[in-house]
Amino acid sequence: KSKAKLNGLVNFFDEEVDAQITYEYQLEEQLRSALAKNEISVLYQPQITTNSEKLQSVEALARWNNPILGNISPEIFINIAEKTGLINNIGLFIFRKTCEDILAISPNGDSAIRVAINISPHQLLDINFAESITQIVNEVHIDQQRITLEITENLVLKDLKKTSIILNELKALGFGISLDDFGTGYSSLSYLNELPITEIKIDRCFINNMISSPQSNALVKAILAISEAYDIKVVAEGVEEKEQFSTLKSYGCELIQGYYFDKPLTLAQLESKYFHKH
Ligand code: C2E
Ligand code: MG
Ligand code: MG
Ligand code: MG
Repeated sequence: KSKAKLNGLVNFFDEEVDAQITYEYQLEEQLRSALAKNEISVLYQPQITTNSEKLQSVEALARWNNPILGNISPEIFINIAEKTGLINNIGLFIFRKTCEDILAISPNGDSAIRVAINISPHQLLDINFAESITQIVNEVHIDQQRITLEITENLVLKDLKKTSIILNELKALGFGISLDDFGTGYSSLSYLNELPITEIKIDRCFINNMISSPQSNALVKAILAISEAYDIKVVAEGVEEKEQFSTLKSYGCELIQGYYFDKPLTLAQLESKYFHKH
């Protein structure tokens, strides 16, 4: 009797594992045709100046909606895209779509907003990357000085020499280089010395805890001091509360991004909130 029970249990776990494998396989299969079926879209989350509370830039955030699987988080599908090699095409699609969208609501010129685009380390290491995005920028006619490439600290980038050569080339082309999720990954501080970083984004976890935890608070202050010494712009991510906002402002943090001002918005929402048409 107990053996039968045990068998039942084993079968149960087998089925769980099977279901998991089937799900991941489905994700992969569906992702392969996601671009062709127009299932990938881009939202834009405002980055607001602490001083005048004005829109200075937006971060492009990808979304995948599939009729069978529903909404899949970018943390999941970007990872699958990296594993399957789909990331290059998906990444370039997001890049082009973002350039077109932002240029449509904010023409090049003095009052143009900036845009930050997340770049997977796998894209960065692709030898055609710089050429591909330069071509897109030229076709769309957006000024590349308006574009910041957000990169995350990642083991893939452990070859700092190589990463540095690539990022220097991109910076020379006029792109800003932002270090995303700062403080959470590998060797953050050596990155600042060895890579041509123009901006860092303080990770949401430090912002979350900065009011309740003196340690997180000290870290935020230290990051701001370092960035000042290095003459690097700082964006605080995940600002949800007024107290976080006013504290960051008093510490001299210039740009904030988070639900306190806006969630990621559709282009239409962004336009109607920040680009009033009369
Ligand atoms: P990330 O680049 O660090 O983006 C910030 C994430 O924090 C976004 O999640 C955003 O929606 C979320 N967020 C913003 N403000 C708040 C807040 O006040 N509170 C909370 N709790 N969350 C906030 P999202 O859109 O789910 O993206 C997750 C991650 O997926 C991104 O983290 C980025 O690493 C990756 N990702 C998103 N879009 C792309 C893309 O186009 N390409 C690549 N390579 N990665 C992307
Ligand atoms: Mg980002
Ligand atoms: Mg981040
Ligand atoms: Mg992240």
